[in-house]
Amino acid sequence: MQWVIISINLFVGLVIALPFDKQDVKIDRSDTNLTKKDEGAFKVYRIVPSTNEQLLQMIHLFENALSDEADFWHPPSTVNQTIDVIVAPEHTEDFSYFLDKHNYKYKVAIEDLKKLLVEKESKIEINRFLNDSRDFVRLNDDAGGFVSRLRMGEYYSYNVLVTWMNRIAEHLPNLAQTVDIGGTTEGRRIIGIKFGRDAPDKKIVVIDAGIHSREWTAIHTASYFINLIVNSRETDSQIASYLDHLVIYIFPVLNPDGYEFTRTERTNPRARMWRKSRSLEDCRFDGIENACCKGVDLNRNFGFRWGEVGSSHYPCSETYHGKSAFSEPESKALADFLTSLKGRLTGYITLHAYSQLWIYSYSHRKNTYAPDIADTASYLARRVAEKAVAKLSSLYGTKFNYGTGPEIIYAFSGGSTDWAKETLKVQYSYTIELRPTYEDWNGFVLDRNELVPTAKETWEGVKVVLDEIEGTWRTSKGFSQRLQGGDEPLVVPIKGPQAKFPELITAENFPLFPFTDQFNTGFELNPANKISMAGDLIVPVPGWGNFDMDSNLYFGNINFDAKVGYQIRPTNHLNIKPETLALLAQNPEFREARKKAKEVVVGRVPYGYEPIKCKPPYCNPFVHNAAVGVEVEQGDDSFFIGGIDFPLPLGENGAGVRFPLSGAVEQGTSPYAYAHGQAINPVSPFDLESIKDDYHINYNGRRRAPSKLTKEKSDLNETKRNFYKKFFDKLPQ
Ligand SMILES: [Zn+2]
Repeated sequence: MQWVIISINLFVGLVIALPFDKQDVKIDRSDTNLTKKDEGAFKVYRIVPSTNEQLLQMIHLFENALSDEADFWHPPSTVNQTIDVIVAPEHTEDFSYFLDKHNYKYKVAIEDLKKLLVEKESKIEINRFLNDSRDFVRLNDDAGGFVSRLRMGEYYSYNVLVTWMNRIAEHLPNLAQTVDIGGTTEGRRIIGIKFGRDAPDKKIVVIDAGIHSREWTAIHTASYFINLIVNSRETDSQIASYLDHLVIYIFPVLNPDGYEFTRTERTNPRARMWRKSRSLEDCRFDGIENACCKGVDLNRNFGFRWGEVGSSHYPCSETYHGKSAFSEPESKALADFLTSLKGRLTGYITLHAYSQLWIYSYSHRKNTYAPDIADTASYLARRVAEKAVAKLSSLYGTKFNYGTGPEIIYAFSGGSTDWAKETLKVQYSYTIELRPTYEDWNGFVLDRNELVPTAKETWEGVKVVLDEIEGTWRTSKGFSQRLQGGDEPLVVPIKGPQAKFPELITAENFPLFPFTDQFNTGFELNPANKISMAGDLIVPVPGWGNFDMDSNLYFGNINFDAKVGYQIRPTNHLNIKPETLALLAQNPEFREARKKAKEVVVGRVPYGYEPIKCKPPYCNPFVHNAAVGVEVEQGDDSFFIGGIDFPLPLGENGAGVRFPLSGAVEQGTSPYAYAHGQAINPVSPFDLESIKDDYHINYNGRRRAPSKLTKEKSDLNETKRNFYKKFFDKLPQ
């Protein structure tokens, strides 16, 4: 009877408070009734809430349903976004009734989950035995019977994975060590593997998986990475290079208790679909009874906005966030371990399934980013995510979305990556949701033949992050350390291992506008459309940057239009001196590399049509730039629209300050507008554009005779050469 009451409460009368109090009744739901003989089928419903009311009902259900009644694979997010929920056999009838009654758009995506599990997963080997040598494939170069390669495309017990990692560490001590970061509720140890020789100045990357028990694909992917590193360390130069330059930790199963529980009955949805840890049962009165359940969603238990959104305070929910932040030994162990790496931990990647997403911080609220969003660091995190999903897709065409949680799937708090980003300032902190897509309903039961491809493509994306970190490590070793605080210009090696042109020529390694801080923004309000004035004014404020105001004023028919202009704020983190750029500009290799470098967008020009682009490693803010735009205007007015952008030689040594202006005047009938923004009169303290290769001093210290020079030009160039020579002599000869 109580099941009926619960069902009514959850599915029919979602907002009705029940009139009686049963707080004294304690119902034990621990172990989710594994022994229970289920009559009927577990069904997966695919629901699309089409009104706010329906969405609120679903959110209420998500936050209050017990996981053995309704378990959300895809929690509610916004109106018209799909929700997937597994409903236990004894509740499907009530649930369908509820959906019909409230006119939900829905279908039953999986009629019988158990049947599907039997079909898909009974074919995949599940290894239960320790030291089963059939699982280890012997390599030719393995010494003394050491078997290091684990057969991929299958799932292994936690014991087998740990044994395997121990063997690797034992037999290849120069390559790897195992690490034990703590114990679990049931007394297992959380074991990971550490690759790469440690050194205090090496950057660290941590990759983990299996914080959610049922996400077996993620565990397989992390294991695949271990296998790949061990077995390709000598044949794959990229992996060899990572091992030289980085320290990489991989934890294939962060929640071994939960994982082992999902393996107990792999075709029983009550076991196989377990997401949480196996912590001791906790109780909470849910309005009807005092319900008690085991397990905490460890990825809602971290101390970042704990309990705020996307998690439940009911112990019987699959997203129960625990009694308090870090109440669980597993999340605490990981947090303590990551904290011990603070300062050197540059990459943290956690693997989940599923939806094909590359998520960066923060995920608790829309339009909320890590505090460093405006500076180079977080801008990089976003751009690297973009690059990673492109690279990942290049292998099999699998498309991933990237963004913060609420931007691409749903909001959640208490997750490990947001916590690491906020607390440890980890530059690249990503939650990756593997195959299949959000639209697929069988995410946790991937076809066997998709396991290895999933791992392979994910590695392609992860490599982008590793490359990025490895690149900055090299750069910092060779460049910025030498430069910080010194008065001498940066000496760029042109020979030897540090002379990595064109790899160094990236926007990340050098500030784009090294000499200026710029902050441009604008707001435009267009309340009418008969007579209008529009303008864009960027005022240079000494010591602060340019101030960009962009506005329209319209009179007549009401017409609302708001615009915001922006310019990314460049800062000179490396403290690069003008003289350094002068030196760089003389280096033919550098010039050649810069020619090949891709342009990046750095800001908008007047009237906001075409962004300003420049080529790394630096923008010369004084070069000519132009932009045009066409606007269709439905009013009966005529107008002029356009812009100019010119620098004034106000700075030190004649350096210019940009002073862009644009405007529009409208009167009468004119449905089209043409806008033109342009920067004229480039002003540069170095006149970089005019340094021709012919005038360069070559690297043997001898001058090349300029061929066709007038006396006047020759004298001028002599002065320039003397100016550059002062710094050129510092180059390693
Ligand atoms: Zn997950």
